[in-house]
Amino acid sequence: MRRKFVAGNWKMHGGLARNRDLLDSLIKGIGGGGKADCAVCVPFPYLAQAQELLKGTAIAWGAQNCSEHPQGAYTGEVSAAMLADFGCRYAIVGHSERRSLYGERNETVAAKFVAAVDGGLTPILCLGETLEQREQGVTEQVIAAQFDAVLQAAGVHGFANAVIAYEPVWAIGTGRTASPQQAQDVHAFIRGRLASSDAALAQRMQILYGGSVKPQNAAELFGMADIDGGLIGGASLVAQDFLAICSAA
Ligand code: PEP
Repeated sequence: MRRKFVAGNWKMHGGLARNRDLLDSLIKGIGGGGKADCAVCVPFPYLAQAQELLKGTAIAWGAQNCSEHPQGAYTGEVSAAMLADFGCRYAIVGHSERRSLYGERNETVAAKFVAAVDGGLTPILCLGETLEQREQGVTEQVIAAQFDAVLQAAGVHGFANAVIAYEPVWAIGTGRTASPQQAQDVHAFIRGRLASSDAALAQRMQILYGGSVKPQNAAELFGMADIDGGLIGGASLVAQDFLAICSAA
């Protein structure tokens, strides 16, 4: 039985005072932890604050990106080892906003995944198709290409300590959610693809759904056989909503 996992992606939102209020509410609401794992992925400058407030609680923290390089002359970049210094457990890699707005190709995402693993972090690997790709009927080809690039770079052993998030681009921040069955179909496809390399690992792999998850739709999505929780954007900024989504898991 896989444990459910709910991770918040704050994106470029927050501020010291607002984060403190949000995290205080989450700490009170989550208490000693529930049936699901829970984490927040915060902007880099707030990692120290997350570490200070969340240390010793049931809420883990992580970053939203990491460099593909371990160190060096890469102005503006942040390495996996630096994230580990701040107690990060997770780093999101390959979020569709990184792919579309910052030109991250499958190979870059794969290199970041490897760097995160090498740095002792658990990457949350995002995969997802655009609306145009879905309408063209190439969702599985797109997901397969994104996934295979990482498999090739990291090897199947690279997935031993990783999380996958299926995030249809057309559902992110749009209020339009994939139906539970649409999401389940892609989750089963991803699990099957991993199972071709390692069936036991595929059974253990947490595969999250992301894309306009709200308290109103979380339980139905999380009730599907291959959906192991969610990667939550907008709703992770509202304590009551994020807590309700965690409870649904
Ligand atoms: C995300 O940014 O990963 C995401 C799923 O956003 P939202 O929940 O706002 O659609």
